[in-house]
Formats: sequence, structure tokens, C-alpha cells
Amino acid sequence: MKRIFEVAPWNVVTHKLDKENKRLQESLTSLGNGYMGMRGNFEEDYSGDTLPGSYLAGVWYPDKTRVGWWKNGYPEYFGKVINAVNFIKMNFLINGSKLDLYTDKISDFTLDLDMKNAVLKRSFIVEKDGVKVKFNFERFLSVAQKELSVQKVSFENLSDDSVEIKVISSLDANVKNEDANYDEHFWEVLEITDDSIIAETKPNDFGTPRFTSGMQVGYVTGLKEIDHTVDKLETSKTFVANLESHEIGTIEKRVAVVTSRDYETVDDLRDAMEGISAKVKDVSYEELLSAHENVWDNRWNQSDIKIDGDTDAQQGMRFNLFGLFTTYSGEDSRLNIGPKGFTGEKYGGATYWDTEAFCIPVYLGVSQSEVSRNLLMYRYNQLKGAYINAERQGLKGALYPMVTFNGIECHNEWEITFEEIHRNGDIAFAIYNYTRYTGDKSFVLHEGSKMLTEMSRFWADRVHYSKRNEQYMIHGVTGPDEYENNVDNNWYTNFLARWTLKYTLQILGEVSKDQFEKLNVSKEEMDHWQDIVDKMYLPYDEDLGIFVQHDGFLDKDIEPVSSIPKDQLPINQHWSWDKILRSPYIKQGDVLQGIWDFIDDFSEREKKRNFDFYEPLTVHESSLSPAIHAVLAADLHYDQKAVALYERTARLDLDNYNNDTADGLHITSMTGGWLAMVQGFAGMRVHDDGTLSYKPFLPKKWNSYSFRQVFRGRVIEITVKENGSEFKLVSGDPLQIQVNDKPLMLK
Ligand code: BGC
Repeated sequence: MKRIFEVAPWNVVTHKLDKENKRLQESLTSLGNGYMGMRGNFEEDYSGDTLPGSYLAGVWYPDKTRVGWWKNGYPEYFGKVINAVNFIKMNFLINGSKLDLYTDKISDFTLDLDMKNAVLKRSFIVEKDGVKVKFNFERFLSVAQKELSVQKVSFENLSDDSVEIKVISSLDANVKNEDANYDEHFWEVLEITDDSIIAETKPNDFGTPRFTSGMQVGYVTGLKEIDHTVDKLETSKTFVANLESHEIGTIEKRVAVVTSRDYETVDDLRDAMEGISAKVKDVSYEELLSAHENVWDNRWNQSDIKIDGDTDAQQGMRFNLFGLFTTYSGEDSRLNIGPKGFTGEKYGGATYWDTEAFCIPVYLGVSQSEVSRNLLMYRYNQLKGAYINAERQGLKGALYPMVTFNGIECHNEWEITFEEIHRNGDIAFAIYNYTRYTGDKSFVLHEGSKMLTEMSRFWADRVHYSKRNEQYMIHGVTGPDEYENNVDNNWYTNFLARWTLKYTLQILGEVSKDQFEKLNVSKEEMDHWQDIVDKMYLPYDEDLGIFVQHDGFLDKDIEPVSSIPKDQLPINQHWSWDKILRSPYIKQGDVLQGIWDFIDDFSEREKKRNFDFYEPLTVHESSLSPAIHAVLAADLHYDQKAVALYERTARLDLDNYNNDTADGLHITSMTGGWLAMVQGFAGMRVHDDGTLSYKPFLPKKWNSYSFRQVFRGRVIEITVKENGSEFKLVSGDPLQIQVNDKPLMLK
């Protein structure tokens, strides 16, 4: 655990420039508006260690796969979100000498991410060559005008004599990805002028689309423009101010950022960026900021969670919601939620099963149903890619990818690509979850039924029949616990495969005649699916009363995590991969992931036996892990354990629990705080008949907590205090809910 920012309810703030943890500081001060985003990099060059990162949603490049030995079926490329043309770049010369916070003497440093308004601020005093200047930086990515980045920098001369400040501000296409497989540049500049760049991603051998991005910059400043340079990759303007003692200079930089995702031709792009620049040219900074802040205000009004009595927990919760809102806003069904959002390169900004398993349950509760529906549409629109994935494995139907931008699998580790097929059940589950939560059957009866049918075709082909046991089995898989590969009969995978087939058969009984005909499912096919449902093998141990993670699991040398010396944790940073694979330690919920998914369907005894057996073996080294365990612990009234796991999930990045936040934030895990609080502490469930119920408890440390939840066109506010809980209908029609198994009418 490493905490480098102060604890404050609405801010992530520090007064120390932490050079040893600069990357961590950058990750934790990232901004985004769903359309684009960036790490908390400084505007100016920094000669110390730093990870530059600005990203445009949906703009990616297929980087040729790099592996030692090629195996048939490997994805040809590894898709990654690429570093965008650097549009925030501004360098400063103080009496001719370049500002560089790595080497300069500075004082009064403050770095402050204001989460309420999504604004990043930085200020410091620099002493250089006998002069002293105070700098103030502010920037935001507008949510009112998504293609707009706004920066404001002011500098005050604190010396007695006058000082010359030069500002060299650029759009710079000379950028790279640290994780590029072949160390290449991804952008080719098509057009460059003294205030704009249009660049296209370089050609690729895989037939995936190239992207063009256009950026146009405008300035609002009293400073004098004295020069501009336009070279192959960078366009810059130089401004100068001669500041008398205590005089202040200010410059605002506004960049319109557009991409070929929205504008077809280069002419269209140019028109669009010119249009946006013209529109904001005469608008004041304050007006731009207030339009942006109003949208954020509405978001927080709809979904803020208040915790009274624990500022650590409060900050963690808001940081999580902030991370989600900055990454995905839900209007664009071509976009998804990358595990690191706009905060780093790792995981390539691609779509993982994280979305269906962990994000949709939260977006259902914090936003209108269209947002989750768009996430499902994203998969529907990628069915073609899923057919290709299945075909490449020699199988029928559709296999959704583990990692993707376009539906085609693009991860280059075989144990993930070939084996982690449970995702085809998680996506089916998300369709069911959406339908159950919203009551909207229109998706499942149309697009959903197609997806379910094709995924079922995959499962029916992927299982095999063991004549010896007279049961269906699934061999050679990786479950959610990636600390084991190529196992046979992973309970979670088998369970989800069976459930998917069963749910598909149910839905086929509900679709219109027309739709049924379109799906073209034969009676024999359906009978075969039913046979698999009836005869699927699900490993179970009678003595322990548990579902067994996979066939060989109980033969391991089973000792709890508490027996591992502390200095060997996290094991993924201390042990060889081989040792990890042989060990009984579970990276993240596996059997327990399934029990969480279908929590209503298991008895108290089953939940308890399995939790008591598996949780002590779980190292929670995936950031996705603690939250679902917190929900299960709360369900079992293990209150202390639930709170400890909540803290771990809600402050995972702020406290750098897994020692990897420097690479970027764990955006998809930021759903964990909400899940632990709402499903865990408040015991919120939506049942098959559409009933919404709660069984709230208040963690001992807290005085109260409250949150708002969106449910079927309503907003409900729940407050849990020491002396009981209150439920209020903020908007929408009356609704009967269940609280502690008793009906309560909300009017
Ligand atoms: C987890 C996966 C997850 C991925 C991206 C991995 O560490 O084990 O379940 O999909 O991270 O978040």
C-alpha cells in the first residue's frame, strides 16, 4: 500500500512533487470526458521519469503480435489505444531558461484534481537564475462540448526586477507508445499548418480501419505572439511577456479535437474543427468552465454516494465514480470501457469481459438504461468478429473475444485467447441482467436472441461427451482465476455454459414467430442443447459441500493465503509463473464469481461453505476481485470482512494496493466500490419477478451513508443510519419495494 495524495472528500490533492512516484501521480490525476482523456502529465517537458499519455476513444492500432513460437489460431495483432497527438504541450522559458520541474528549485507546490468539477489544477513557485515566478495551471476536457480541451496558465513575477517569460505552445505528433511491439510511431501527418494538425494512423497489414484525427488550436492571451514554426511533426507558436514585479501574464489554450470516427473525409474533419474553434473563440473561460461544471453537477446529483464518518471511504467512492464517468458516458454504442480507460497503455484500452461482468451491473444503477443497452449493442454489432473467432478455433457459432476493439480477438497470450472462454457466458448473463433490472425485453427478444443463439451454438460445439461418465464436459480452459491455465471442467465455465444454453432455450420460447424463423434453429439443435443442460458435469465435493473450481483443484497442497510470508505478496511480483500455477492461490473470484452472479439461486449453506473455503485461498491480485467478495461477505453477515474488502476495492488505486497503479488506473474495477456498497452493505437485489429489495446494514465506523439509484425510470434515494434506513422516491412513479423482507411503498 502506498498513499501519496491527501485524504479529502472531493479532491485528490498533494503538496509534494513526488519525483520517485511521478507515474503514480500522473495516473491518479487523469482526466477524461468519455470522448478523450489523458494522464496527469505536465504541460511542459519534464526530464525525469514520466509516462506521457493522451488517448482518443475508439482510436486504436493493430500492433503485429510478437510471440516466440507461433501457434495456429493466434490473433495476428494486438490492438492498442495509441497515444494521441500531444495537444496540451506548452513549454516555458524564464529569461531564456527552460522550466523543468525535475531539475528546478520549486516551492509551494500543489497538484489538485477537483473531482466535483473534473478540473486539474497545479501551482508552484520556481526560483531560477535569481528570479522567482509563480505558476498556476488549470485544465479540463469539456463534457458540454466533448471535442474541446481547455487550458489556462498564468504566471506572476515574484521578483523585484522584470522577467521575460516565453511560452512555446505546440501540437506535437512526435509521440510513441511505451508498449509498442516494434517501437514504431503510429501517426503519419497529412496536413500541418501554424494552428492545426491532421494525422492518420499508419497503414496496417490486417485490413483494420485507419483513423484520422484533426486538432486545431486557438489562444486567448494578452501576450505577444512573436514566432511560429511548422515542421514535419510539430507546429508551435511562441508568445512573450515582459512582466514587471508582481505583474501577471495569462494564456488560454483551446484545442478542438475531432476524428474520422465522426467525420468521413479530411475536408469534413477540417470543417468540424474549424467550426468548433470558431464557436468557442469568443466565449470566456468562465463560461466554458461553467457549462462543463453544470453537466458534472447533474451527474453527481443523480449518483453521488455520501459516507458520513469516514473521509477515506468517501474519497475512495467518489474517485471510483469519477473514474467511470470520465471513461464512459454511454451515448456512443461504438465505444466501450477499457480496463485502464484513458489513464495508461496497459490492456490497450480494449474491451474485456470486465464490461459485462462488472460495469453493466453498476451502469444499470447509476444511469439511464440506454447506457447499458448501448454496451450490449456494441457486442451485437460485433457478432461478425465473434463468428471469425469461433471459426479460427474450428468451432461453430460465435465466440466473443476476451480482448477486442472490433469483435476480433486481439490478445496475444494463448491461455487467455483460446481458453478464457467463460466470457461467452458472461455476455449472455449481461443480457439477462439488463432484462431483469430494466424490465425491458425488447433487446433480448431481438438482438439478444441472436447473440444467445450463436453463443449457444459455440458452447454446444465446445463441450464434449464423456462416454465413461455419461456427462458433458469442457476441457482445456482458463477460468476467471488466471493463476491456473488449461484446466478441465472449471466449475464456473461449465456452469455458465449450461446456464447460457438453458436461458437461450427459454428465450427461444418467447421470441416472435418471425424472429424464431430468422434464427433458424432446428428442433434437433434445441434437443441437443437440452441434453447438454441435463447432463452437464459440474464438479462438486460432497464432504466439503463445495463446488470444485476444477477437476484437479482439491489435490493441490491447500494452505490459506495467511500462510504466505508477507514479503512474498503480491505473489505475481515475487513468485515464478510456474510456482503460481502449481499453488492453490486464486487470483480472483472463480467459483465465487458464479455464486455472486446468481446469488439468489444458492442456499445460505452453499454460499457459506464455498465462501469459507475459497476466500481464504484468494490473493485478490486482480483489482476486480475484492468487490464481489465484499458483496458475498455482507450477504453472509461477515460485516468486518465486508468492510475490509470494501476498503480494498474503493481505495485500490488511491492506495496503490496492487503496486501497479503507476501504469494507469483500474477503471473497470472502479465499479467495485458501488457494488460493495449497494449490493453489499445495502443488500440491494433485483429478483426475477422484477422486485427490488434491500437488506441494509451500517458499517461500524460510519455514522451513515446514502446513495441514489436509478431503477425503471425512477430515482430512489437510500439513506442508512444507525437507527434505521430511509427510502425516498426522488422522481418517477410509485413503487413497492422490499426492505428486510417486508413490503414498503415508495410514493
Ligand atoms: C484479470 C481479468 C481482467 C483483466 C482486465 C486481469 O488481471 O484477471 O479478469 O479481464 O485484468 O481488467
